[in-house]
Amino acid sequence: MSGYPGATGARLPRWLLPENWPETNNQPKLATLHFHAAGLQFEPDSAAAPADYLPLNGALVLPAFIEPHAHLDKTFTIQRSPAQQPGLLAAIAAMHQDRAHWNAEDLQQRASQALRWAVEAGVGLLRTHIDWFSVDAPLAWQVIGDLHHPLCSIERVALAPLTFFADASDAQHIAAQVATSGPGALLGGFIHSSNWDAQAFQHLMQAAELWQLDIDLHIDEELNVEAQGLRWLAHYLQQHPFSGAITCSHSCALSQQDDAEQILAVLAQHNVTLIALPLTNLLLQDAVPGRTPRLRGLTLVKEAQALGIPLLLGADNVQDAFCPFGSYDPLDTLFSALLSLQLGAAFDQASALICQRRALLANDLVIFPHADVASWPLRQRQRYRLKMGVRYGETTDGA
Ligand SMILES: [Zn+2]
Repeated sequence: MSGYPGATGARLPRWLLPENWPETNNQPKLATLHFHAAGLQFEPDSAAAPADYLPLNGALVLPAFIEPHAHLDKTFTIQRSPAQQPGLLAAIAAMHQDRAHWNAEDLQQRASQALRWAVEAGVGLLRTHIDWFSVDAPLAWQVIGDLHHPLCSIERVALAPLTFFADASDAQHIAAQVATSGPGALLGGFIHSSNWDAQAFQHLMQAAELWQLDIDLHIDEELNVEAQGLRWLAHYLQQHPFSGAITCSHSCALSQQDDAEQILAVLAQHNVTLIALPLTNLLLQDAVPGRTPRLRGLTLVKEAQALGIPLLLGADNVQDAFCPFGSYDPLDTLFSALLSLQLGAAFDQASALICQRRALLANDLVIFPHADVASWPLRQRQRYRLKMGVRYGETTDGA
């Protein structure tokens, strides 16, 4: 399938444009895009645009989205297994009840639906955590590993409670299975005051290092000022530089801790990525029956940004005991973050938090043909994918 060699009239977000990009009426000039094998190139529109380029006429254009934090093993189970109480720990209990249904067909059907919804929304890279219930990989690890989609890469993170790393040989056993299960597999863990164990965390880090794994942790998903996870990680990294990529998801407790800025400064030095999950953090943090929540539960996004820490927004749970809502549309995640985190310009700045920069190398874009900067992302959410000049979705002629 050969596509357009380029496009004209693209309204790109300011975060993607160089500082000296020309403006008209306080808006960035529209761009001409060139789809090259080596990656996307762009320049301000000129009168000399080639006739075979796709005219976008001012449509909003973003790199394909990233869904950096999902749970495809749990998704779409809310109807049969709702949580009995508000809050994170009750949701975990409901999930363990629901596991009785998790055969290959059930997992495959639910995870495929999630993947389909994400791709329809413009997602080109989806990272899912997958719960481990013993030190041996669960069925979902293989079932989701077998999922494929031509428009979306999938990464799997082994989500094991910290207690599974208490024994160093168990930690090695988990890491070895992750390392030998193909590309796009990471080591994860659930690290919380309810299971805090510094030695187990050390075993996790050592096993990841030995097996050359990147890690993505559910860490300090709580508002307990005494939460030790990030504090311990920052201290550990100062003594033991880590060769892989580290991602810390949630990290809600930072919003309560007096030493949060010092912790963030260390994480910045070690290029740790932070992921905020505004939908589930708003729903599950400070959740007490019969009482209006007083706290937002979100990590320190603005302080982290000021230190240059890479940041992303994720959906987390969709239609399960943890969160009965959700759509796998990063625009919904972004909109909740715009309000709860009081972010600025939605399209020109905040959209960077849901975009996958590597998509530019693949000329993989999401086009909003009838949207304007002031209304986005609330009105005119219709969109299509344009990858290497080929259109997918909307018209359904190539998808
Ligand atoms: Zn999660």
